[in-house]
Parts: sequence; structure tokens; C-alpha cells
Amino acid sequence: MPAIVIDGKAIAKKIRDDLAIRAAILRKKGVFPCLAVVLAGEDPASLSYVGAKEKALAEAGMESRDIRLPRSTGEGELLSLIDQLNRDPAVHGVLVQLPLPQHIEEDKVIAAIDPARDVDGFHPFSVGSMVLGRPGFLPCTPHGVVTLLRDLPIPLDGARAVVVGRSNIVGKPLANLLCRRDVNATVTLCHTGTRNLESICREADILIAAAGKPGLITGSMVKKGAVVIDVGVNRVEDPSAKKGYRLRGDVDFDPAVERAAYITPVPGGVGPMTIAMLLQNVLIAAEQRT
Ligand code: NAP
Repeated sequence: MPAIVIDGKAIAKKIRDDLAIRAAILRKKGVFPCLAVVLAGEDPASLSYVGAKEKALAEAGMESRDIRLPRSTGEGELLSLIDQLNRDPAVHGVLVQLPLPQHIEEDKVIAAIDPARDVDGFHPFSVGSMVLGRPGFLPCTPHGVVTLLRDLPIPLDGARAVVVGRSNIVGKPLANLLCRRDVNATVTLCHTGTRNLESICREADILIAAAGKPGLITGSMVKKGAVVIDVGVNRVEDPSAKKGYRLRGDVDFDPAVERAAYITPVPGGVGPMTIAMLLQNVLIAAEQRT
């Protein structure tokens, strides 16, 4: 039997509807949850992510302060803008869209965001809190994946999870969240140095692809009955598509769907969950300061 395709959009919508109710309660108290979104340059993918985030915020009754900077913006200028936003009582969250232009050091910029406003969960303080299991903002994509998994009628406790990709924003934090006691999976984290990727993936009850390589996970790498979560979002050329490209995940969907029990599509799987988790963090930031 082919896999059940997980409807990330529908699960995210439920979360966003709940957040909209909580946002309305705050607004009645005179608090308008607000995310400052800083974008330097005009990278087309970043423009589209920022647009999607701002639209979702508005739909949930939250505000966004859209700050567009030219690509030539200096690091010092960006750091002083973040300092201003950190002090602005009307701003509850600060998000700097990555990647930044090459002349700006991303680590410095992330570290400049007030941890109380770090709704992306990338600040070293947030990362440390996550690893120690202390309260703090969780990074949105890994948190979204765990939330999707929890929504499935399958036991996560003791499951064998394999994460392909060890980036600081997806793979590493995801591996960390999966091995927390409240999920209790046994986790293997793979990367380009991994030997026998195929056989490791085939052992996974939960297989999560976050490599940014279209079709890296072939059908034969999926164990029968596994849960497959495809985080990858890759633009592949397609002259027949209106935009000249289409989005493809890291998983070769058609053969994988024949072997998995549950699988996420791209688009419509993890992406909407990432946005829902961002909205949740903004709302929590606003609630915490009320
Ligand atoms: P990244 O920083 O480029 O990291 C990719 C990771 O995958 C690296 O750890 C790399 O290993 C590993 N990798 C690459 N090729 C591999 C291979 N052939 N075998 C094994 N491991 C391999 O990417 P990222 O920022 O984590 O993003 C990953 C993907 O998720 C991208 O497609 C991105 O667009 C997507 N994404 C989606 C969302 C969403 O909301 N849906 C959010 C964020 C990212 P090394 O460390 O050894 O180089």
C-alpha cells in the first residue's frame, strides 16, 4: 500500500488558527505581537520566504516590520539596526533572513540579537538552552519536524531515527530534539563523511532528509513502513514550469511513497510547519513580555 502523504499545510493551519486566538487575546490587552524581519539584498528565494512569513503573521493577527536593506549594507550598519530593534518595546521578535551578503559575518549578526527576541532560535544562548533542555526558543524547522512526527499515530519512543544533514539550523538541532527524553528516539546523524549512507538509512523507522540534494534519498534507502520526512527544498530547472523551475525535495518521492508508511511532500510538508513554529515563537515572545 502506498504511504499516507502527510498534509503539513493542514497541520500547520490548525496551529496557526490556535495562535490567532491567542494573538487576539493579546491585542485586547493592547499588545500587538510584532516580528521585525530584516532582509539584506534581493535573493529571490529569501524574498519569497520573507513574503510567506509576513503573510502568515498578518493572517494570524500579528504584525511584521518589514526592513529591506541594500546588498551593500555594511556589517556595522546591520549590527546597529539590530541593537535598535532589541531596544524597541513594540518589537517582540527579530529575524534576520539568511543567507546574508558575503561581506557580513552571519555569526556576529545572530549573536547580536537579544535572546529574548531570538524567534529563529539560532543565537548561541538559544542553542545552549535547547541542548541543556532549558526553556528557550527552539529553531523553527527542527521544531516543526518534531511537531509533525508527534501528530502521527506512531510511537516515537525507542524508534530508530536517521537524520541526513548536520547543519546548525536543521540537522544538528533536529538530532538533538529527537533524542530528548520526551521524544526518546535513537538517533544517527549522517553527513558527507558518512560511510554506507544507504544501509544506515534503510535501518531508519524515521528517516529525515535535510541535505539540500534533490533525489539523494532513493526508494531503496527507505525501509518498508518507515516515516519519511523530507526537509529539502531544491529548485530544479523545468522549462515546462511557469517559473522555469520546480521545487523538489531530497527524497525521490515516487519510489519512496511505495515503501514508506508516511511521507511528507515538497512543497506542502515541512515548509508550512516551519512558518507555524515561527509564528508560535513570536507569540510566545509577546506573551512573555506582557
Ligand atoms: P546545508 O547547510 O547545506 O547542510 C546540508 C547538510 O547535508 C550538510 O551537513 C551536508 O554534509 C549534508 N549533505 C549534503 N550532501 C550530502 C550527501 N550526499 N550525503 C550525506 N550528507 C550530505 O543545508 P540546510 O540549511 O541544513 O538545508 C538543507 C535542506 O533543507 C535545503 O534543501 C534547504 O533548502 C532545506 N530547508 C528547508 C526548510 C523548510 O522550512 N522546509 C528550512 C531550512 C532548510 P556536510 O556537513 O558533510 O557538508
